[in-house]
Amino acid sequence: MKGIVIVSPKFFKLFMASWAKGITLFPFIILKDEKSRNETTLIQHEQIHIRQQIEMLILFFYIWYIVEYLIRRIQTGSWRKAYQNISFEKEAYAHQHNNFYLKERPFWEHIYWL
Ligand SMILES: [Zn+2]
Repeated sequence: MKGIVIVSPKFFKLFMASWAKGITLFPFIILKDEKSRNETTLIQHEQIHIRQQIEMLILFFYIWYIVEYLIRRIQTGSWRKAYQNISFEKEAYAHQHNNFYLKERPFWEHIYWL
């Protein structure tokens, strides 16, 4: 499962900060604009989130993500640093340039990035 890519600028206007270009809400990878469809790094990043979400039965991914964000927010005092230090994001950013990563990725690899 690599995710179903859709483009919805409206979604980002309603829910997202302007800096975000994509978000993964299983089974969808939602992109801000059409040109992002060709950004392989962005798509790979979001596909790593698809795998993480499947492994955590979707719901637990979001619970973990929000709880870890709140902990990191207290630790760092910054929303951006908190986001960058979430284990799911650290794993996705570290491997977003490697198109073979999902073929070799161990189960629950995000734990390594805690
Ligand atoms: Zn991400």
